[in-house]
Amino acid sequence: MANIVFLHSLSHAEEALWLARFKLLLPNETVLPIEQINEEQAREIEIAIVANPNPELLARFENLIWIQSLWAGVEGLVASFNALQGERAQQMKRVKLVRLIDPQLAQTMGQAALTWSLYLYRNIPEYAQQQRDKVWQPLPYEPIENTRVSVLGAGELGVVACKVLTEQGFSVNCWSRSEKDIAGVRHFSGEQALVSMLEQTDILLCLLPLTDQTKGLLNKQMLSNLPAGGKLINFARGPIVNHPELIELLDVGHLSFAVLDVFEREPLPVDDTLWLHPKVAILPHISATTSLQSAAQVVANNIEQYRVTGHLPVSVDFTQGY
Ligand code: NAP
Repeated sequence: MANIVFLHSLSHAEEALWLARFKLLLPNETVLPIEQINEEQAREIEIAIVANPNPELLARFENLIWIQSLWAGVEGLVASFNALQGERAQQMKRVKLVRLIDPQLAQTMGQAALTWSLYLYRNIPEYAQQQRDKVWQPLPYEPIENTRVSVLGAGELGVVACKVLTEQGFSVNCWSRSEKDIAGVRHFSGEQALVSMLEQTDILLCLLPLTDQTKGLLNKQMLSNLPAGGKLINFARGPIVNHPELIELLDVGHLSFAVLDVFEREPLPVDDTLWLHPKVAILPHISATTSLQSAAQVVANNIEQYRVTGHLPVSVDFTQGY
């Protein structure tokens, strides 16, 4: 009897790898793709493991208790659940959505935060431009503690980024909704405090979830609070940054560089002007990708825990959107 459905938009090869892993880690469970589950079996299913699923298909499982995502960001699913109407909305509102909380993923994001903060701090974009212009010109060296990195978001990823950056010697600020006490980090919360933090920022690193509150948060007005020469790294979600307004600030020289890993449309369309902008580095959404090994283990632990204790992992708050 199939008791867990695996619903995704992965390739067949990727699906096979995940299924093989689940078989190994969950020998007492049967995890099957949706096309191998009949109507009768569908009624028995309590758990769905998902990776970019078609939300319409989830509604077929009327006795679903929880959905375990293989990704850390679940804003697409939250938005599609919030958009459901009528009976379907009632049905899906009863279901808990659990996103991936994987310490390995957080370490990967910490690495990315450090890599690109060092890249900006050590003036690599300026030296790359000098090389293109055949200019031999050492730029002034600043001690690392004079560089202020501000992290937006102090969640699973933001806290690890703060720690890694602090250990490297950067002066680190951090902003989140609730108050936090992170060793060696100045914490800010509230919109007024955000402005004040930005005024004291050389490199701004975004690790916020995409919600109604954060969509478009980093627009011209907000980013103008960064001191002249400020730099932006967005590793969270594309729509948090207003890209046309960011380009305006780069073009007038108020901001000096942006590292963008995430975009409203992915892959970034080939005719998007961002590709060729001299003050932008484009990454293909790779700052912290899900690792099959560690993510499958986290998911297996969550399911085992649920089977033994009946306790669900911490789930997404649909009202807050994350
Ligand atoms: P998380 O644990 O849910 O943390 C989110 C943080 O953002 C929390 O500190 C939260 O504040 C803060 N926050 C949310 N809304 C806010 C608001 N309106 N004002 C101020 N602070 C706000 O999320 P996470 O696991 O760290 O992941 C963050 C995001 O990274 C994900 O949502 C995903 O979009 C993105 N991500 C990107 C990649 C990639 O490869 N590019 C990989 C994984 C994840 P509180 O602590 O007060 O609740």
